Amino acid sequence: MLADLHIHSCLSPCASLEMSPRLIAATAAAKGIRLAALTDHNSARNTPAFAETCRTVGIQPLFGMEVTTVEECHVLTIFDKLEQAAAMEQWVAASQPREPLNLKFFSDQPVVDAEENILEMIDYYLGAATTHSIESVQRQTHKFDGIFIPSHINRAAFSVESQLGFLPPGTYDAIEVQPQVLKQYQRRYPHLPVITASDAHHPDQIGAAPIELPLSPPVTIDRLRTALATLALQKNADC
Ligand SMILES: [Zn+2]
Ligand SMILES: [Zn+2]
Repeated sequence: MLADLHIHSCLSPCASLEMSPRLIAATAAAKGIRLAALTDHNSARNTPAFAETCRTVGIQPLFGMEVTTVEECHVLTIFDKLEQAAAMEQWVAASQPREPLNLKFFSDQPVVDAEENILEMIDYYLGAATTHSIESVQRQTHKFDGIFIPSHINRAAFSVESQLGFLPPGTYDAIEVQPQVLKQYQRRYPHLPVITASDAHHPDQIGAAPIELPLSPPVTIDRLRTALATLALQKNADC
């Protein structure tokens, strides 16, 4: 099952306003993606529309966020139930400063429905760092029965390597890297599932760098966790 576990919608301040949940679902389906996670910056408000639209095109939806930790690292927190994502969002939003959104540098942050109607505009900058540490987001994600994946850890900004210089010890369900360093990081972290994802902010990026997972519908978080773990075991067997 082809999966893209890191996609931004129009709700993210740095994403194209074309990225409605409806367009994401249709584009991902056309590219053969069958499992997709919506992971906007510090908000899960577009996940209900994503759930609705994915089901009409045969995609198994997952609901999450890309949280900016107090260290200014990006980390993915992903759930299989809307209520869990909403509970996580409440916990995240309560710790986020309400910096006004600067439209000189960022785009509007609309919450939309499955028919692309705007329900609300979020007027504070969703990309701002929360007061939660990496470890604390990890703990809270697992408490709500989600998957925790540090994002693009090799990237030169907003990654554990750019901010800390290393991957701190932790309970990671996987780590995400950019595709060009996948093999290098598989060798560096043989005990961890190393994944790629599109981190799509624009329609033409959706479904880029997907991963193939040994899964079939229905996908639950437990089954996803097991499938991810299998990737690391396969890597160890290859060594
Ligand atoms: Zn990121
Ligand atoms: Zn991202």
